[in-house]
Amino acid sequence: MLKFPIYMDYHATTPMDPRVLEAMAPYFTSRFGNAASRNHSFGWEAEEAVEKARRQVADLIGASAKEIVWTSGATESNNLALKGVAEMYAERGNHIITAATEHKAVLDTCKRLEKHGCRISYLPVTASGLIDLDMLRESITDKTILISIMYANNEIGVLQPIGEIGRIAREKGVLFHVDAVQAVGKIPVNVLADNIDILSISAHKLYGPKGVGALYVRRKNPRVQLTAQMDGGGHERGMRSGTLNVPGIVGLGEACAICQKEMPEESARLGRLRDKLRDSLFGGLDEVYINGAMDHRLPHNLNISFAFVEGESLLMGINDVAVSSGSACTSATLEPSYVLKALGAGDDLAHSSIRFGLGRFTTEEEVDYVSGKVTEVVKKLRELSPLYEMYKEGVDISKVQWAAH
Ligand SMILES: *Cc1c(COP(=O)(O)O)cnc(C)c1O
Repeated sequence: MLKFPIYMDYHATTPMDPRVLEAMAPYFTSRFGNAASRNHSFGWEAEEAVEKARRQVADLIGASAKEIVWTSGATESNNLALKGVAEMYAERGNHIITAATEHKAVLDTCKRLEKHGCRISYLPVTASGLIDLDMLRESITDKTILISIMYANNEIGVLQPIGEIGRIAREKGVLFHVDAVQAVGKIPVNVLADNIDILSISAHKLYGPKGVGALYVRRKNPRVQLTAQMDGGGHERGMRSGTLNVPGIVGLGEACAICQKEMPEESARLGRLRDKLRDSLFGGLDEVYINGAMDHRLPHNLNISFAFVEGESLLMGINDVAVSSGSACTSATLEPSYVLKALGAGDDLAHSSIRFGLGRFTTEEEVDYVSGKVTEVVKKLRELSPLYEMYKEGVDISKVQWAAH
């Protein structure tokens, strides 16, 4: 039985896995201790739970428990990584390299650092959404202290060549930060194999609770140091003060343990469903375009532009399905998605894009419903589109002169 609305926006957030909630529950009530209380069993119990979660998170990414720093989420993790490195290594240099398609938590942090004297290189991406490794190499100077490139993009699901970037960073002696929010728990991530020095994680993107995250900070070869951005009791090896969110941390740990156990099966299942969704849409409609490389992509992501259709009208037409669009009105700005524009998509295709994010609780029945519904609504909208009619009659739309509106 289908239940409405259907959730297909797993890149925005994920529902908590009931097993995660179960693990967290006692830490709200009977096991309420402060993990920093050293004098009684309430504190010890909380500390023990926090240290177990630290091992669970570390295990999932090939790190050791001591390298995990708790935060309030990946926005904070990214801020701490970039600002912490910029401040700590200011004497060595002031140059940071990132990419145009990064999450705002990285881009806006870079904007802030520019005001404080940092120089930032924003690498462009190709039409497939990937950075160019030669361009990366050429951007590195003797003032470069950090490369920050995301693992998987939150809009188009495209996977950057993290292993190769890590090799280049190591070879040049530059620290490497990875916003891995969309990848951790979904595909194998290993900080040792990929020479990653700092890595951001968010619990609510992997079936854990909102408002908790982690930052992996490498402890040897090299030992990374970060200047704290939150001063106080000196928690988390002095990198992030503040009483720990014990239930949240327990939830993040349990969420990671479940992902680690179920990842191979889950990603294969979601890959099959995602491909089925793509094939049904392409079978039923012409003039549909995939945004970003299909062969370097998360298994549960599909980002498609439906030419001759406004994303907003499409969203309204499929109002029993929760997805998101790269078009303007979903955000506070009037610009269409900066990620799609960075791929070189025109405004019209960016405006007509839909991001489908599948996840743990997505069923085949839901995928069949969504592909049928989207196909029907796109056809209906195109029947009302004079542009689509002209296109069908063979008019070269790109040569038509439009009156300004
Ligand atoms: C969601 C997200 C973030 C922000 O994480 P929060 O925990 O919600 O602050 C950062 N980067 C990427 C790629 C994301 O998808």
